[in-house]
Amino acid sequence: MNINPKICPFCKKENKCEAHIPNNNCWCNHIKVPVDLREYIPDELKMKACICQDCVELFKKDKKSFIEKYVPIKI
Ligand SMILES: [Zn+2]
Repeated sequence: MNINPKICPFCKKENKCEAHIPNNNCWCNHIKVPVDLREYIPDELKMKACICQDCVELFKKDKKSFIEKYVPIKI
């Protein structure tokens, strides 16, 4: 599996994260990513690919539809 750190693990769109740039001013430094949202990141992408802002906002606003949309059912 190819890991692209610029692609959001959920919606597969560009996350516009700049955390890889030194002294960056990325939005992800200023926003609190809910801990329970991080739990849903597939293991192989944890700490590798950033979640995009849209997904963080959607999760905060409507957790249920976020999960229905993006989280594969765990058996
Ligand atoms: Zn996203």
